[in-house]
Amino acid sequence: MHQDMINYKEGKTELLIPKDSLRLDYPPKEPAFFNPKGIESRDLSVIVYQTFSRIQSRPLTFSDILCGIGVRGIRVAKETEIYKVYLNDINPNAIEIAEYNIESNGVADKCILSNDDANHFLTTNRKEGNFFDIIDVDPFGTPAPYLEDALKTAKKDGMISITATDTPVLCGLHPHVALRKYFGLSLHTEYCHEVGIRLLYSALAFSAARYDKGINPLFCHSTRHYMRVYIQVRSGAKAGDESLRNIGYINHCPKCNNRTNSNTPKLICEVCGAEVKCGGPLWIGRLFDANFINEMIKEAEELSLIKYKRMLNTAKEEADGPPTYYSISMICDRLQINTPSIDKVIGELKQRNFYASRTILNSKAVKTNAPSEVVNDILLNLTKER
Ligand SMILES: [Zn+2]
Repeated sequence: MHQDMINYKEGKTELLIPKDSLRLDYPPKEPAFFNPKGIESRDLSVIVYQTFSRIQSRPLTFSDILCGIGVRGIRVAKETEIYKVYLNDINPNAIEIAEYNIESNGVADKCILSNDDANHFLTTNRKEGNFFDIIDVDPFGTPAPYLEDALKTAKKDGMISITATDTPVLCGLHPHVALRKYFGLSLHTEYCHEVGIRLLYSALAFSAARYDKGINPLFCHSTRHYMRVYIQVRSGAKAGDESLRNIGYINHCPKCNNRTNSNTPKLICEVCGAEVKCGGPLWIGRLFDANFINEMIKEAEELSLIKYKRMLNTAKEEADGPPTYYSISMICDRLQINTPSIDKVIGELKQRNFYASRTILNSKAVKTNAPSEVVNDILLNLTKER
């Protein structure tokens, strides 16, 4: 096993990883998959799970159903109060490496390994009455095939986290594939990453509703290569109904850049009369739980992961914001003007009594309830001032 492996360190965790994971732009699946660039996703998940663990104030179980060489699970075992970590993967090489890493990190007493198909692993545990407090779904591509079993195998009030790497689908390059995988059309717009996140939430809400469950979005983030969402599962038909009330459409006008959200799709832009593009059905409720993020900020400090505090503060700020955001750099390109600072744009919007904040989904964008013509007007005025 050690022939094509090298030592690697992520935070406090020392690992044996496949050599090619570091050498190649896109880490190979063989002998086992490991992406060093996933550190941000793993850091944030440690913060989320530890926060959840503290709030629940009881010993929790965690299950990584597609664990690869086990890095996330090992970090959860080492860095959080979660008492039992289940690591499963269908690739026997990955499990062999995971086993070595678990031993060498001294967390063997907390970890249970298995080599199985992810959905079969969940079904088997369910049959044995073993439900999990937290289930993580981090596949190659779409998480869609795992949502139902994950939702069925989560404990009451448990958590599910999912990663999606089929970003072109979620970002509107293949809207009909999005319809197939997530039951809603994606939109190719300047805020496509938010649409993708909303499709992930709605896919979870639709799947949960079938089993008389609902979802409570806690936290989400996105980078170029993946999107990740965290939800708490709510039990009961009422919770399912409440979730579905957050399902609707985002109506985007390609002509004037205006956007609205509604429970039924719109056909015509209310500002300029042009035909609008509709994304959805998708989640139009809130993306973050501000109270939960507040607790995450405290945990980030406790876990010495303070570099995420700024990001979390932005998430807290935008938690009450409306759907969609304006990419200031893209709009300025279209208007052929220089891009002003994001803070200046936010200041101007607030002065005109609109909601305005940054968003963690795009560092060059502003979340606001102002119509597109007001945003354009502010950008043009700021350019004149220079
Ligand atoms: Zn329009």
